[in-house]
Amino acid sequence: MQAVASISQSALTHNLSTVKQFCAKAKVVSMVKADAYGHRVELVDPIINESDLLAVSELSEAQKLRKKSNKPILLLSGVYSQEELQNAIELNCHIVVHEQEQIELIANVNKAVNVWIKIDTGMHRLGLLADEYHECIKIFKNNSLINIECVMSHFACADEVNNPMNTTQLNEFNQLTDGNVKRSMANSAAILSNKNSLFDFVRPGIMLYGISAFGEDDANLKPVMQLSSPILSIKTIQVGESVGYGATWTADKKTTIAIIGIGYGDGYPRHAKNGTPVCINDVLCPLIGRVSMDLICTDISGITAKVGDIAILWGNEKLSVETVATWSDTIGYELVTGLSSRVIFNKVL
Ligand SMILES: *Cc1c(COP(=O)(O)O)cnc(C)c1O
Repeated sequence: MQAVASISQSALTHNLSTVKQFCAKAKVVSMVKADAYGHRVELVDPIINESDLLAVSELSEAQKLRKKSNKPILLLSGVYSQEELQNAIELNCHIVVHEQEQIELIANVNKAVNVWIKIDTGMHRLGLLADEYHECIKIFKNNSLINIECVMSHFACADEVNNPMNTTQLNEFNQLTDGNVKRSMANSAAILSNKNSLFDFVRPGIMLYGISAFGEDDANLKPVMQLSSPILSIKTIQVGESVGYGATWTADKKTTIAIIGIGYGDGYPRHAKNGTPVCINDVLCPLIGRVSMDLICTDISGITAKVGDIAILWGNEKLSVETVATWSDTIGYELVTGLSSRVIFNKVL
């Protein structure tokens, strides 16, 4: 009796085709960093096979991914030593350059290399500043081994459609770059909301996994991960009796409760509040009491359920991961990337 994450292959196909509908002209760089946003790289073939490029954060992820695919891999954090540079080239990575030290490393390369220059247009996380960028372009253009494949930047507030920072960043990006280089700016939120940000390559992540970057779904994305676990026990408690650690929930009426075999040790959020919905036999039942390491409790008064019935924690048409995230003061991204090795993963159609 164990928690199971089922990864829907048809949903992956559907969501990738939605990306392509929104950006018919741009090439698609699919984000499979953090083990495909926690969905496991081994289980997301439709994305691996149907994207133009794949992107990961670190070299260790590129090494693993290379065993599955021959597609170019965009290495988002870039390289920090000769050894990493040689490894990245051998793995046919497109290497992001976002930092002064990386410019020097790449400038002395002795083999052909594809680079993506990342510029900071206002997020102030990774990216070269304007002066550094101009200098970098000069150095790289003078070296026939270096192919500048693309210039990229990243939005800080793409999920807030009306945030003025989006326009500021886009203006800055347009000012710094021109039609002489290929360009990339859009993550999922920008793909769905800002046609002017699509350029030559788009970089969808969360939407591929059927999760809206806006906390609500207006593009008809299909959830990819369904997390479920069986009911391990059912009992009835009386008025005044409490449930769980800290006795934080007390029955104000006679209550039938189901104890489900999932907890924060599997990646179910410990901060899920009383009332967080859990879907049991097609009915949303409220979480009661604290989430423990291996177990949660729900109020199933008035519904038909027995030990062994399967509870869905998120990822069906009634209960999205975004809903659970909201009840837990977090975002869907964190929940799907956080499942532990105790959860069984499988592919479903
Ligand atoms: C993770 C990432 C993305 C994808 O973001 P989503 O919000 O998941 O679509 C795009 N670009 C960069 C640089 C990233 O690191």
